[in-house]
Amino acid sequence: MGAHATKRDAAIHDGLIAWYRRHARDLPWRRSRDPYAIWLSEVMLQQTRVETVIPYYERWLEAFPTVQALADASEDAVLKLWEGLGYYRRARNFHRAAQVVANERAGQLPETAEQWQTLPGVGRYTASAVASIAFDEAVPVVDGNVKRVLARLERIETPTDDRETVASMWQRAEAILLAGSVKEPGTPGAFNQAMMELGARICVPRRPSCLLCPVAASCRGRAAGVHETLPIKGPKRVVPHADWVSAWITRGGRVLVGQRPPGLLGGLWELPTTTVAPGETDADALARMVRADLAADVAEPSHGKAVGSDQTIATVDHVFTHLRVTIRVTPLALVGKPVAQRHVALKWVRRAEFDTLALPVAMRKLVRASLAKR
Ligand code: SF4
Repeated sequence: MGAHATKRDAAIHDGLIAWYRRHARDLPWRRSRDPYAIWLSEVMLQQTRVETVIPYYERWLEAFPTVQALADASEDAVLKLWEGLGYYRRARNFHRAAQVVANERAGQLPETAEQWQTLPGVGRYTASAVASIAFDEAVPVVDGNVKRVLARLERIETPTDDRETVASMWQRAEAILLAGSVKEPGTPGAFNQAMMELGARICVPRRPSCLLCPVAASCRGRAAGVHETLPIKGPKRVVPHADWVSAWITRGGRVLVGQRPPGLLGGLWELPTTTVAPGETDADALARMVRADLAADVAEPSHGKAVGSDQTIATVDHVFTHLRVTIRVTPLALVGKPVAQRHVALKWVRRAEFDTLALPVAMRKLVRASLAKR
């Protein structure tokens, strides 16, 4: 037990470690001591479920078995392998960070959480997770699962997205981490994973399994009967909705796609797409987009029918973190040769080639639905 640790903290620590030792799931990254593989798993597991991550993790290590292999890969190859996991910024940052390791650190991965945080896109959570799991550094982690466990265990009744609440959670997690006793010394990595595992499997959002919980005797939320009302979230954000329209432009059996510029979903491919402004028709929005993004004009349809939503080939609804969108695809003929304005590049692709392109998830759904109808 650390110098200032309380008996309660030591009991929580030891209870968690003993439980984790017996019940930890056998996950591929837990069989590895390779910091690169552990880092990869932590990046993939942010915002994504374990079951989804496993096949991606395995495919990734086959394609890029070392940090050097990843650093040498093209961004296209990286994004293609990431396709479907969402939050592409994670993949791009991971790729950039691998290049920093290869070029500026002679391929040597950092060891301490502080060093890890100097890499692009590596925040406090990832840095602490990798440093504790791969290098046994005594630093805590606080993610969504840990927040829920701590809010209940400590009966924290302030919102968990509140800055001060989060800061105090990091402190509590550290105090418990350092309270390990001689009886169950564990390791920082095992302790951190135990906390996250408890949140993922026992102290779940709805109807936690308190009867199976190794720290139930120390749980203040449960003792007060308020555990199921915790954690307290901040006021719910209303996710706004937008209408987008995409153009299905074909020439000689090929379809026009553009590569997105750096920024949101940068580097991925898409059908030329624009937001439909309030009061604007799909046809107006498409005409505006074609002039601005493709430096071309929309051809008058030969059958005299104006381009409009009645010609929609497919419609897809998609939810991003901060936006719900409805995307409609409309066939379009162009006057003139399209020239990339907003996109990094434009190209004409055959149907089969869509499988080799890295597309955002919403675009993949849209293209599949369109190809099924064309
Ligand atoms: S006793 Fe229940 S509420 Fe408390 S930490 Fe365990 S599972 Fe969560």
